[in-house]
Formats: sequence, C-alpha cells, structure tokens
Amino acid sequence: MVSTISIALSFNEKHLHIKFFLALSILLCADGVSASPDSTLRSSPVQSPKTQHLQTTNSSSVQSPQSTKQAKKKEPEKTLSEAEKKAAYSALKALHLRSPIDGFDLNRIKGAYYEKRGQDQHNAADFVVERNTPVHAVTKGKIAKLFLSKAGGITIYLFDPSERFVFYYAHLEKYADGLEEGKTVQRGEIIGYVGTSGNAPPDSPHLHFSIGVLDQSKKWWDAVEVDPYEVLSDK
Ligand SMILES: [Zn+2]
Repeated sequence: MVSTISIALSFNEKHLHIKFFLALSILLCADGVSASPDSTLRSSPVQSPKTQHLQTTNSSSVQSPQSTKQAKKKEPEKTLSEAEKKAAYSALKALHLRSPIDGFDLNRIKGAYYEKRGQDQHNAADFVVERNTPVHAVTKGKIAKLFLSKAGGITIYLFDPSERFVFYYAHLEKYADGLEEGKTVQRGEIIGYVGTSGNAPPDSPHLHFSIGVLDQSKKWWDAVEVDPYEVLSDK
C-alpha cells in the first residue's frame, strides 16, 4: 500500500480567482491507479489560453498558482438526476460507441466504475493491456484537449460531434502521430498508445478511460461520469 498526497488546483473562470485544495489519496487497488486522476484533471486546468500550447507540448504538469492564499475545500461532486442519466444513456447508445481497445473483453471492466480509489469512487474503467497497445476513438469527434497532468499523465479529451459528451483517455505512452487539439478524428481511429504515464505503476500499463456528460459550458475537465461498462456493453 502506498500513500500519496496529490495536490489539485482548480481555476474558476467566472470569478477569476484560483482555488486550491489538497486531496489525500491512498493507493489500494490492484492496478494501482490512485484516487481520481480524472477528477483531479477535471478540476485542475490552471491556465490561460496563452499557456495551453506550452502545457500540452512540454513535460510540465499542472501549473502552480501564483497565489495559494485563497485556499478552499473541494467542491461537492456534481451528479445527474435519474432523468438526466436516462437521457444520457439513451444519447450515448445512439452514438454506437466502440471499445477504446480492440478485442478487449468488456466483462473485465464490469464494476470498475464503482470501485474505490482512495476516498473517491473510480468513475472510470481500467483497460489492462500491454504497453503500446493502440487506443481508438470510441466515436467520431473532436480532440478537445491534449493535457499533461501529474495524475493522468499523457491524456486525451475527445468530444462527440454534439459536444454533449467527453471521452477521457489517461496514462498513455504517447499520442498517435499528428494528433492535435481541434482535430476531427474518425470512429476507430488510433489516437494514442497505452502506457504508464502519470501515477500509473510502471509495471501496470493500462488505459484509464471515462465517459463524461458535459453541461452547457462544455468545459472539457468538468463532466459527470457514467459507467463505461454499462454504456459500451449496451449494444
Ligand atoms: Zn483508472
């Protein structure tokens, strides 16, 4: 068992101030993915448009805020009502998503969404496969963000064409050649390769994958996740 302290930073665009919080996470799971690389990312883009390019191409992780005086506690998790959840599943089904990993038995991710990662629920699925296994776009869509973070490592945020959903890929070894923000990718296109970047154990390559429901603001880091197993296995 390994204990880590992860520091997550969040940026509130509306009020233009920086919030700062500490999350204590404990790595317990077999594959060693710690608490919420995704939730850390969802709330962590401390950046201005000017720094985005640098952040995605350099090896720096989440930037430090200029001031940490405005420390605040973590905001409560957003949730969906039952009606919203039902509508989301129905819309996702209509997208005819494919698996991000070819030939993967989806039964292996059954229940992974509900597992605990530290103090948080996983809210994602881990596809445990060999390093450099190709990862595919689950739908046609737009590369909303290529983000490098401490927890998630090399990550991709893919929007579906309606920009109602975001598909998140983490712990990648590398991106596919030519992948860039704003690019439209086709369903099934190889967008990256499985690795152990971020806080994945070096001996446990896997794809951490989540499906998020965006709100009107369409912030790539701010979505409510639904169960990937339920979505991907619902044909
Ligand atoms: Zn995971």
